[in-house]
Amino acid sequence: MSEKKILVTRSSMPPLEEYVDEIRELWESRWLTNMGKKHNLLKEELKKLWNVQNVDLLVNGHMALELVLQAMELKGEVITTPFTFASTTHAILRSGLTPVFCDVREDDYTLDAARIEELITEKTSAIMPVHVYGNICDVEAIEKIAEKYKLKVIYDAAHTFGESYKGKSVASYGDASCYSFHATKVFNTIEGGAVICRDKAVLDKIEILKDFGIVDAESVGAVGPNGKLNEFCAAMGLCNLRHHNSEIKKRKQVVLRYRQQLSHIEGITLNKECRDTISNYSYFPILVDENKYGMSRDELFDRLNAAGISARKYFYPLTNTFAVFEGKYDVHETPVAYRLSKQVMTLPLYADLEAGDIDRICDIIIKH
Ligand SMILES: *Cc1c(COP(=O)(O)O)cnc(C)c1O
Repeated sequence: MSEKKILVTRSSMPPLEEYVDEIRELWESRWLTNMGKKHNLLKEELKKLWNVQNVDLLVNGHMALELVLQAMELKGEVITTPFTFASTTHAILRSGLTPVFCDVREDDYTLDAARIEELITEKTSAIMPVHVYGNICDVEAIEKIAEKYKLKVIYDAAHTFGESYKGKSVASYGDASCYSFHATKVFNTIEGGAVICRDKAVLDKIEILKDFGIVDAESVGAVGPNGKLNEFCAAMGLCNLRHHNSEIKKRKQVVLRYRQQLSHIEGITLNKECRDTISNYSYFPILVDENKYGMSRDELFDRLNAAGISARKYFYPLTNTFAVFEGKYDVHETPVAYRLSKQVMTLPLYADLEAGDIDRICDIIIKH
């Protein structure tokens, strides 16, 4: 069989001519990185889009997480979720902090706020929740706990570009929010990221940290990495931003077509539609309950794969089960996350995914 291969995602890209026009100036200015014109323009556009003031751009989303932790000078333990991408957990560890894993909610995969307090010790300094698949965390409950125990809240908002919750951009929640503009995300700058900070002083520190801690030509005030977003990436962002709304509209159509066909299959659970949220339709996760569906997630995954369709076991494995952490964490402390990780997969989703391809994917899931 020579059926067309369907990948789990395809990067959004502007028309080539538009990008060429956008980068033409760079040949004249020869200013390729270090907070150039495109970088600053993109930053201004994002401030407007998010309706927030304290924004900085970074080389990737992971750098945003690490630099926030460094700039806040946090110590001790950070309460977080294992149901996430490696980046969240690694950022905590690479910053010399200790992740303390909290379980997630059954219905939206985000940190279970009701389980946070029992994990707080005198060493706890922050909470790092993740808005998984664009499902917004219980931001009100998390904020209350943070206020009560004087903890910082840093959201991994990598999945939420373009989303708002209760009429406010998701970027405005928490002491900081970190975005990823990686090629596979809803909005991309090829590689890139951003941070939004409530406290201007933290942002000021990040601006210095992301350039090796260089304050000015003759003064270095901190030990920082190279975290700058270059001009070619910023230019890609400026172009993609112009098409962002139409991309999300197309993604919505894809999601609606999936929902129509997969809503009533015994043993298949779809992501719930979140209240008060304007969604970006970034992922289409399904849960496969082997006992009711008659086939395991892994079997269904293999069957799709055999038909040329690449789904993704996302998030599997849980970060607290990574080989590198063997013996360090007890996965049974996060039983809900553990079960979800064995049942979940995300189906192919991108703006140009064709109706016929969606139907082919659904047929395999329906006629199992
Ligand atoms: C993509 C992603 C990151 C890391 O972002 P990069 O831009 O790839 O560094 C962090 N957390 C989550 C949840 C992600 O999906």
